[in-house]
Amino acid sequence: MIERPEKSYDLAVIGAGMAGMAAAIFAAQRGLSCILIGNGGGLLLASGLLDLLAVHPVTQARPWPSPYAALAALARTQPEHPLARIDAPSIRMAFEAFVSALADAGLDYAPLDEHNRSVLTSLGTLKTSFGVPLTMLAGVDALLARAPCLLLDFRGLREFSARQIVSTLGDHWPQLRHQRIDFPGFEAVPEVFAAHLARALEAPQTRARTLARLRPLLGDAHVVGLPAILGLGRSREVHAAFEAGLGLPVFEIPSLPSAVPGLRLLGALEAAVAALGVQRRHPCCLRALKHSDSTALLDLAGGERVRAKSVVLATGRFSGRGLTADRQGVRESLLDLPVQQPASRDLWHQRDFLDPAGHAINRAGLRTDAAWRPLDASGKPAWPNLYAIGSILADQDWMRSQCGSGLSIASAWAAIEQVAQQRCATAVNQR
Ligand SMILES: Cc1cc2nc3c(=O)[nH]c(=O)nc-3n(C[C@H](O)[C@H](O)[C@H](O)COP(=O)(O)OP(=O)(O)OC[C@H]3O[C@@H](n4cnc5c(N)ncnc54)[C@H](O)[C@@H]3O)c2cc1C
Repeated sequence: MIERPEKSYDLAVIGAGMAGMAAAIFAAQRGLSCILIGNGGGLLLASGLLDLLAVHPVTQARPWPSPYAALAALARTQPEHPLARIDAPSIRMAFEAFVSALADAGLDYAPLDEHNRSVLTSLGTLKTSFGVPLTMLAGVDALLARAPCLLLDFRGLREFSARQIVSTLGDHWPQLRHQRIDFPGFEAVPEVFAAHLARALEAPQTRARTLARLRPLLGDAHVVGLPAILGLGRSREVHAAFEAGLGLPVFEIPSLPSAVPGLRLLGALEAAVAALGVQRRHPCCLRALKHSDSTALLDLAGGERVRAKSVVLATGRFSGRGLTADRQGVRESLLDLPVQQPASRDLWHQRDFLDPAGHAINRAGLRTDAAWRPLDASGKPAWPNLYAIGSILADQDWMRSQCGSGLSIASAWAAIEQVAQQRCATAVNQR
């Protein structure tokens, strides 16, 4: 075991999914020294789309063209929801700061406005989201205009079928057609994977050969759609080269997880936190956390110990193992914090799995005070400098509301604001 000297930080963030990454970025942008502990969580499975709030109330599955109008309705009717506790200007600032950190790391998003957008998926269905990667934007406009569009796929790519999309959508989009080609250099390979094609397209020669195969197929197309293969870390460059090479807008279609957009998002977030000077420990797990009045001592897997003045818990739900369930009920895994949950296991699920109201177990989680500090059994903050963010929070069902990234990014912003305020207050008191 390597003995490392015990280091001190303003903030330790536990969990490096969307919420933990966002918290580390916002903390570093405010000048706080920060250590981020844990792996990428659900990010590898992400579609690249950043949902804010698309559906409310979930019982009616009501879609909203504007996430901010949806948030206002949420605040009126479900004030306990974590997103209802954050004001709209803060949410705007959080998203702007998040996508600008991604842009600095080479991953561009379409300009954020007041609207949700409809994005075509690889199943031929539509997904409503707020933050749309720039490589997917031309598809939003093409879908709205039902423009003459050529969808492409590649022989051997099992995870994406342009023909399937056309057969699902063709009645509503008569000028949508599809073509399949061999990917240059992979002609003899029976099965190809999007991540391999994406990496291959970062080489200018492969791009040129691919474009040469595409040009004769364009016909009357005004826009070209293809699976998300336009580069891994260099999607900006590859997308621009495709648009220039074809002389048309080109868009990617998000495919089933785990897929290239998730790899890109994870890579860009890792680059963003590194560029901002955040210390990372991964793959790594926090084993134990003890705290005195003013500092926490964290024991990491591998024997390292660090100290932090504040701690943000972003350990996720059941898949991230922030929450675990057994016969006794749902537990918070790290600190055994009280979990708000149904009174008995019988109440976890509705009889009908597809019940539009969703399942009570999906709304179980940590309750916090107004400053995002999780509560102990007596209803007081468990520790004055401990905060909880993201999907571990109670009173939300991010999947049904389609607010996964919004919940993570906005709660991270709100909690880091509290951390920063507390640091300022401590500094003033020490003068
Ligand atoms: C399949 C899938 C598709 C999705 N698609 C979308 C989408 O299209 N749009 C959208 O907006 N959102 C989407 N999301 C949601 C989004 O990506 C996030 O999962 C969600 O916002 C919750 O993030 P989180 O950080 O709270 O939790 P997680 O992503 O679960 O991250 C928690 C992390 O904490 C770590 N952890 C737990 N305990 C410890 C410990 N003791 N020490 C160190 N680390 C620990 C876990 O390993 C994990 O990495 C999707 C999620 C999934 C799973």
